[in-house]
Amino acid sequence: MEKPLEGKVGVVTGVANHRSIAFGIAKAWHEAGAKLIFSYQGERLKDSVIKLVRQHFGEDTAVCELDVASDESIENFCGFVATQTDRVDMLLHAIAFAPKAAGTLEGHFTDIPREAFSLSLEISAYSLIALARGISPLMTAGGSITALTYHASRQVVPNYNLMAVSKAALESCTRYLAYDLGRREAPIRVNCISAGPVQTLAARGVSGFTSMFKVYEEKAPLQRSCTLEELGAMATYLASDGGACVTGQCLYADGGYSIMAM
Ligand code: NAD
Repeated sequence: MEKPLEGKVGVVTGVANHRSIAFGIAKAWHEAGAKLIFSYQGERLKDSVIKLVRQHFGEDTAVCELDVASDESIENFCGFVATQTDRVDMLLHAIAFAPKAAGTLEGHFTDIPREAFSLSLEISAYSLIALARGISPLMTAGGSITALTYHASRQVVPNYNLMAVSKAALESCTRYLAYDLGRREAPIRVNCISAGPVQTLAARGVSGFTSMFKVYEEKAPLQRSCTLEELGAMATYLASDGGACVTGQCLYADGGYSIMAM
């Protein structure tokens, strides 16, 4: 079988467990022939993420801590990647966080405090800029950066509140990075996948999340959201030659839900 990412090297952020979207995409990239380098966030996830990725992607899989709230940690992680490979072809950004505070993931939007707003935008959107800056020098043969977003960035989904604003910023960062990095001698493409609801750790933080699946079943043209395998296939397309002229885009993987007005 043809392996569209044979010989390519990918950096994967955002694996927390086997339900993570990053894990689904990493599986697809691995099956497509890529060698992968992973991050984990902090001591709490260290052992379980290292165990999970070594079990699925090989005992010698490189894994390093990354807390995108810290410039030092980002620098350290990018330095680690440079010790593992002299070339990177793909970067996956699958990181988002909004602190629990008034109005952030439920309640009144008007209640969102300044510190929570800053922290969410920093971790969920600024981190894409910081990681692109750190990893892009290794993309010497060009590359593909993919981030994960959600439709609440464009239309109101009750309770998404602060995360919706962070995703709007992330999507805008994607377009500006696409312009900036696409003009390099070895062009780097930057895209978002806008996934429909997936049952993950992060998603559980959004009030009323589980009832969203029912809405997708009732209203989406395909009567469902998306699977990890489908998100993996889409990210593989974006990273492969098939996506060679696609950049700055936000591609929906949501069973068509976003086209509906009623
Ligand atoms: P997840 O909980 O499995 O992954 C979120 C990841 O973000 C975790 O691995 C966590 O460690 C990481 N993270 C949070 N703060 C961090 C920090 N300071 N430094 C480094 N890493 C940090 O959940 P997921 O749903 O797989 O989320 C992945 C991406 O997909 C997120 O951007 C999320 O917003 C997006 N997304 C999710 C859904 C969904 O329904 N689950 C839908 C659309 C988009």
